[in-house]
Order: sequence, then C-alpha cells, then structure tokens
Amino acid sequence: MTTRMPAIFFGHGNPMNAISDNAYSRGWAAVGASVGRPEAVLCISAHWYLPATLVTAMPVPRTIHDFGGFPRQLFEVEYPAPGSPDLARRVQALLSPTQIGLDERWGLDHGTWSVLCHVFPSADIPVVQLSIDETQPAAFHYELARRLAPLRDEGVLIVGSGNLVHNLHSYAWGQQRVEPYDWAARFDQQARALLGAADHAPLIAYQTLGRDAQLSIPTPDHYLPLLYVIALQHEDEAVSFPVEGFDGGSISMAAVRIG
Ligand code: ZN
Repeated sequence: MTTRMPAIFFGHGNPMNAISDNAYSRGWAAVGASVGRPEAVLCISAHWYLPATLVTAMPVPRTIHDFGGFPRQLFEVEYPAPGSPDLARRVQALLSPTQIGLDERWGLDHGTWSVLCHVFPSADIPVVQLSIDETQPAAFHYELARRLAPLRDEGVLIVGSGNLVHNLHSYAWGQQRVEPYDWAARFDQQARALLGAADHAPLIAYQTLGRDAQLSIPTPDHYLPLLYVIALQHEDEAVSFPVEGFDGGSISMAAVRIG
C-alpha cells in the first residue's frame, strides 16, 4: 500500500530562485527530502492560466522559459523530468464530467520548474501540469481540486505553485530585504490563521475579505493554486508552513503543506 502523499503549495516568487541558494531554495530542498519519492507530481502553476482546463499529456515535456529580462543563465536551465500520459488520462477521468483537454504543446513553466529543480533536483520523477481555467470563480477551482484527492493515495504529490500575496505593482525589484507592506503582512497572517483553523470558506471568498486581500490578490492567478492544495485536506490532517518570508515587500513566499 502506498502512503498518502502530502499536498503542498509553494510560493515561487522571483524566477531567479531557480538558480539561487537562499532560504527559499534551501527550504524547498528540505521539503523534497521530507516527502520521500512520489510516483509522480501533478502541478498547478499560476503561469498556466487560460480559458480552459488542460492537462499536459506529452511523454517528454519541454522546459518553458516564460519570462523576460532575466540573465541568460536562467534561460539555460532545463528541467528534463519525464511526463506521464497515464497520469494525464487519470486526471481527465477523475475530473469528469468537467471537460479536461489533453495538451501536447505546453510543458513545464517556471512556476513548476523553478521550485521543483530544488525539491527534486534529479528531475527523474514524472511531472504533469494542470492548467487553471481563468473564466471560472474560486469556488469552481476548490470543488474541482477535491476530485483529485484519490491521487494522493496513489503516490502522486499534488503541488500548487503561486504566491499567497502577489502584488508586482508594489514589488521592490532587487531589494529583497525590504520589510513587507502592512497590508501584505496582515493578509498573510489572516490567511495563515484561516488555514490553521481549516476555515476554507473565507479563503474561497477572498474577494469579500476587504482591502488587504484586494491588494494582496490583485489578480487571482497566483492565489488559486493554493485553493487546489487546501481542497485536498482531510479532516484529521494538519497544516504547516515549511517555508516563510516576504520578497520585495509584496510577495509572500509562504509554503503551505497539508499532511
Ligand atoms: Zn509567478
């Protein structure tokens, strides 16, 4: 019998974390060492956000360098993990009757590989990505994710990659040591308290949480991967925050682990 895998949300932040040795990258490596070796990874990345739910189904996903203005060294990073057409079809079946397209064109975007290159540096565990349908409300994503729960008992590590607080308008580029904005710190604390109490309804209805939440989540793309992870929490499961911190004052790097 396979042990139940945890489900983990990573705050990925700046793509440069992929090639940095810092508290975040070391924290991600420690998480990887603590979960053992999954059969496969299913990743919901903030950077695959489009008007459909798709799952990558190619046997060899490419490494996508979906950003601009970074050093060449970052564009040279390859994360050659295999795909898993079998897992893609399993995801499609589990999420039925919602229509899930099998995708042959995407691959692994930096939301996925900038973290996984530290979590599983050998890149030999199959990785599949599930897109986020940008036309759907938060409750849709939470309910959809619940149907993925059986995968945890099949050895699949479900990963969400985004940021709990993500406001690039306020981001202090190149000044990683600045203190977080008050609104960012307050929302981070509020969200963590709700997560600790497994009180998910306000987190799904985050748009009703006021100005701190509005500033912290100006667009849903980096927040929704969190809902995919917490939707998988069983009643008896604890939540922990294996990585913490703020980057540039307005990016929460908090990781959220279920189980
Ligand atoms: Zn991002």
